[in-house]
Amino acid sequence: MSQQHPENLEVIAANLQEVKQRMQAAHQRRRCEGREPTLLAVTKYAEPDWIEALYQLGERDFGESRPQQLASRNEHYSANNGWNDLRWHLIGQLQRNKVKAIIGKTSCIHSVNSLRLLQQIARHAADQQLPTRVLLQINISGEQAKQGFGSEEILAISKQLGSSKYFSICGLMTMAPKNQENDAIRAVFRDLRELRDKLQQQVPEQTFLSELSMGMSHDYEIAIEEGATIVRIGSELFQSCTSESNND
Ligand SMILES: *Cc1c(COP(=O)(O)O)cnc(C)c1O
Repeated sequence: MSQQHPENLEVIAANLQEVKQRMQAAHQRRRCEGREPTLLAVTKYAEPDWIEALYQLGERDFGESRPQQLASRNEHYSANNGWNDLRWHLIGQLQRNKVKAIIGKTSCIHSVNSLRLLQQIARHAADQQLPTRVLLQINISGEQAKQGFGSEEILAISKQLGSSKYFSICGLMTMAPKNQENDAIRAVFRDLRELRDKLQQQVPEQTFLSELSMGMSHDYEIAIEEGATIVRIGSELFQSCTSESNND
């Protein structure tokens, strides 16, 4: 354990409680349709003791954007070191030459943004016989700078979205545009859900697109109202935490 700042546990406990209450309220506004959404704690900027506080508070799903940091944290927080059942999700861009190193270390790759990457992951998962779950990242808003498949593009390759023994495509992921009105954000999340429903009709029959990974600190309530099953939250969980580099 690295509890250099014991007050962080209290701060994070309060933040977590607030986020969970808001998640629950949003789920109720959706009339509790579907299962309760999963909170994915995004730890890309988190210090080890913040992660450990969340673990102590019962959280098990953690998201990292850099494959290398995911791999090293996966190794550090292992059963051998007394940490059980942490699930690491990759939410940032993955290059094809990093696939081999990440297979088996992640519970789910949310950021599959090309057919070549998808095929590379499927091949390595089969070769190494390590079950691998992925989500397809979709660029709903069509912004040039955004990663992901276009809606038309993914529908056009739907027949190639098969799952296999060691490889499962479990759903879709998106990011809403920044600095937009709530209505525009809501439209993006609704479009993702509708795209999923349409795509589900077309994909090979062993593929079940049950997950919708959408919503971050500033828009997760809207995402849940529109059917998110996973929300990815960083800054909201760690606000007011004391960092190593700060001197008290
Ligand atoms: C950083 C990040 C998040 C979390 O963002 P916050 O605004 O800190 O909640 C969610 N999803 C992705 C893909 C990210 O890179």
